Amino acid sequence: PGPIHVVGGGLAGSEAAWQIARAGVPVILHEMRPVRGTDAHQTDGLAELVCSNSFRSDDAMNNAVGLLHAEMRRAGSLILDAADRHKVPAGGALAVDRDGFSAAVQAALEADPLVTIAREEVAGLPPADWQSVVIATGPLTSPALAEAVRGLTGEDALAFFDAIAPIVHRDSIDLDVAWFQSRYDKPGPGGDGKDYVNCPLDAEQYQAFITALLEGEKTEFKEWEKDTPYFEGCLPIEVMAARGVDTLRYGPMKPVGLRDPRYGRRPHAVVQLRQDNALGTLYNIVGFQTKLKHGEQARIFRMIPGLEKAEFARLGGLHRNTFLNSPKLLDGWLRLKAMPRLRFAGQVTGVEGYVESAAIGLLAGRFAAAEATGAEIVPPPVTTALGALLGHITGGADAETFQPMNVNFGLFPPLDDSVRKNERKPAMARRALDDLDRWLGTRVDAAA
Ligand code: FAD
Repeated sequence: PGPIHVVGGGLAGSEAAWQIARAGVPVILHEMRPVRGTDAHQTDGLAELVCSNSFRSDDAMNNAVGLLHAEMRRAGSLILDAADRHKVPAGGALAVDRDGFSAAVQAALEADPLVTIAREEVAGLPPADWQSVVIATGPLTSPALAEAVRGLTGEDALAFFDAIAPIVHRDSIDLDVAWFQSRYDKPGPGGDGKDYVNCPLDAEQYQAFITALLEGEKTEFKEWEKDTPYFEGCLPIEVMAARGVDTLRYGPMKPVGLRDPRYGRRPHAVVQLRQDNALGTLYNIVGFQTKLKHGEQARIFRMIPGLEKAEFARLGGLHRNTFLNSPKLLDGWLRLKAMPRLRFAGQVTGVEGYVESAAIGLLAGRFAAAEATGAEIVPPPVTTALGALLGHITGGADAETFQPMNVNFGLFPPLDDSVRKNERKPAMARRALDDLDRWLGTRVDAAA
């Protein structure tokens, strides 16, 4: 068979190309950067992380995304391998040096003799002689391709807003005021319980900060963007502030588990910053995605005690997100029902997050490779995180109300009632890993 074409060298496309090559099938990865950029990407590296540098919890026994990490490692994921090799301290989370991570993904693909990387935009429907295509062009799919897909499906692509948080140079943080501490001193792998920088606000400072957020000048929406809703998991801070004076104090600015060493007590509110690169020179403001104008961001964020002299490596921003109504449009092998030579992967399928996007890339790559070699395509069991996520987007979710989804234990088939409540997550995780191993074994058998 001819090569498989993967369009988009982000989290999902890079993982898909890797999985295809692991199955011994040649693959051409088409990435439009640097020929054409997006509103959020800043480099021409493959698998660039556009905002946070965190892959979230790495706890496989108690957290569904941690379980997804574990499953992907077992399935030979390039994204997880690169993340593990470039991780930075982040409590119980897996966070990475974004440049080292992206460079490692790119180097692995460049070194693989079965992978060809083509730096070009696929600006319309892929040519008819591309018999097998994985489209992994992400939330910022270029307009020409998005239009072509829309024309094909006759379905209005849904859209919402995603926001990005600012990044600060560490040496511009005043550490006489701010201090290092993880919530409840919880040490992450290799960490010492001091992974976050904390900036304290007293009641008066907090009130002034909220007022400034509400009065600050925001970026205007374009006409066509006005009816587009926000994604609840990634609300801009000024939108949260508008919901009530204490909303932020119970959200990203909650002070629980933290103690200001100068006074030996919990402050009224806290702004947390997390290490953003391996060198530890950059820190991102956790949960501070915003659509305030850039000048306003610098002015308002410098009201935060400890950040009075903050220098910003990047300011926050807000971007549109495009995704398919997958439960309606895709089959169980991620193929577009209207044109089965096209498979979709990543955020464009309606999963949400770096890890989930890469996970669907892993599956799309494996399915495409199995199809090319004539092997049976066996989806992962629904009891695994991979299978639960796939099942949700390709059938489990209601097409009428379909919204981007993070992996969570609610997507898994329940255990029987005899399992005690506090033992359910570890029991589901053990069941998932057992079933996954069997599935990975099955695939080897089927391919042999
Ligand atoms: P991407 O990683 O975006 O990869 C798509 C690739 O396709 C890009 O490299 C792009 O250049 C390329 N491309 C697009 N069109 C074409 C074309 N026609 N031809 C060739 N190449 C093309 N998730 C998190 O977990 N944490 C976050 O903090 C987070 N923040 C986000 C902030 C913003 C502004 C956005 C938009 C999304 C954010 N997400 C976040 C959501 C999501 O997890 C990421 O967008 C993730 O990168 C999606 O992976 P992907 O592979 O589907 O897409």
